Amino acid sequence: MNTAHSPLPRCGEKICRTIMSPSGIPGSDYSINPYTGCTHACAYCYARYMQRYSGHREPWGTFVDAKVNAPAVLVREVRRMRPGTSIFISSVTDPYQPVEARYRITRRTLEILAPLPFSVGIHTKSALVEDDLDLLRSFRDISVTFTIVTADERSARCLEPGASPIGERVRVLKLLADAGIATAVFIGPVIPYVTERSLDSLLEGIALAGVREVMLDDLHYAGRLGDRLFPAMRAIDSSLPARLRALPQDYSQQISRIVLEFCRSRHMRCRSFI
Ligand code: SF4
Repeated sequence: MNTAHSPLPRCGEKICRTIMSPSGIPGSDYSINPYTGCTHACAYCYARYMQRYSGHREPWGTFVDAKVNAPAVLVREVRRMRPGTSIFISSVTDPYQPVEARYRITRRTLEILAPLPFSVGIHTKSALVEDDLDLLRSFRDISVTFTIVTADERSARCLEPGASPIGERVRVLKLLADAGIATAVFIGPVIPYVTERSLDSLLEGIALAGVREVMLDDLHYAGRLGDRLFPAMRAIDSSLPARLRALPQDYSQQISRIVLEFCRSRHMRCRSFI
């Protein structure tokens, strides 16, 4: 049992009408989001626009609602899905955020999907996925991707205050790989000057953990991203906001080249979206 998160955040409950939504994510037909909101509270979260559909007035990152009827709705919806359907868990929440330890909506979702001829990709920043290891092993086609944008624990706490420590994520990646489950790491978004500081140890660490695939994405300054991201970056290093203004145009491409080269040398797959 993972004990990284305690005490558990408060969690509301809601009834959903649907649980599989068409996915805009390349390679995935549908997304499943077992929760609304996410207490990982990442400073660079792109899902913050979901606030307006959540019915909450509190800031994004401070609330979460469990879709308590999601498993029952899923049983109904999977009957319409063809074999080979690819499912992404999750696109606008973290399926293993702390309240999963109480509600187990993600686990019950996976129990329904396990015997079906679908391809499932889990995306998380939480070591809590470890609790479902035996269930994950029963899938024919499943992968687990951890987002890691820095190997530096202090920087990660500033950027992703509610998520598992990096050491925990890497430990669980190794556990999953040793159990024969396909694992990947998403370095995304690349945080200027933060990701690069620990990039070598990040890459070495995940290679040692048996990760076979790395994905990489740029930082997209959509909406009011800077409102949360810049204070977090300032907390890491007060000089960063000023340095950001002078960021070389090909900065992200340089990072991408380093990662591609590393992966080539270790025979790891690399997909850069930069
Ligand atoms: S884990 Fe994902 S959904 Fe949750 S706050 Fe972080 S970026 Fe947003």
